[in-house]
Amino acid sequence: MKKIIIAIDGFSSCGKSTMAKALARNIGYLYFDSGAMYRAVALYCMQNSLIIEDEIDTESLKRRIKEINITFEVDPETKNSITYLNNINVEHEIRSLEVSRYVSRIAALDFVREEMVDRQREMGKAKGIVMDGRDIGTTVFPNAEMKVFVTASAEVRAQRRYDELTARGDKADFNEILENVLQRDHIDQTREVSPLKKADDALLLDNSNLTREEQMDWLIDVFNKLTEEC
Ligand code: C5P
Repeated sequence: MKKIIIAIDGFSSCGKSTMAKALARNIGYLYFDSGAMYRAVALYCMQNSLIIEDEIDTESLKRRIKEINITFEVDPETKNSITYLNNINVEHEIRSLEVSRYVSRIAALDFVREEMVDRQREMGKAKGIVMDGRDIGTTVFPNAEMKVFVTASAEVRAQRRYDELTARGDKADFNEILENVLQRDHIDQTREVSPLKKADDALLLDNSNLTREEQMDWLIDVFNKLTEEC
């Protein structure tokens, strides 16, 4: 069967990664989390004093962007994707609220996006991938055969993020998370380079009131119909 590219875009914390990961596993495709790449760049900045008094040292970041090596490996036990920053497992750190605070500003920098988009296109060369993000269907793979744009209310998304952080033992404040979700939505939608928006040919999926199973049935149904046509 011909392999396709599946682009899953949408707002912060609407469960894109969980959904994309599960879909990839179900259909035997590779999964790539493009947000993890921007998060890894943000963590790199934090670890290398490229954020000083809340200001990003963009000149230094620009000079060093090629040195930021981001790779993914699959955990043999959980089958989850693990993000490595310069060969160090950073999967846990990149999910912190501290990284979330800076990531959207860093992801709005044109040279950061150019570099990450090039790397993402390279990952999709052989097709057979599911990639989630904000601009996968609009910029990274505008010709992707299957495009889904996911959304849910800001409160539902903040609650999911709160549950995720508390489940892994982190301290979390619902209002602080809600504020971060709204702020990231705003930055993502209003930035100049590749703002978050639904591609004209993307299917809209509002999962505020859907169970994971209902969502998966919907995705598999779309995938089967599209691959039958290919
Ligand atoms: O998907 P996730 O929330 O982990 O992404 C972190 C941040 O990275 C987003 O809030 C967004 O600002 C940025 N991002 C992006 N383009 C992508 C993926 C993520 O700008 N393709």
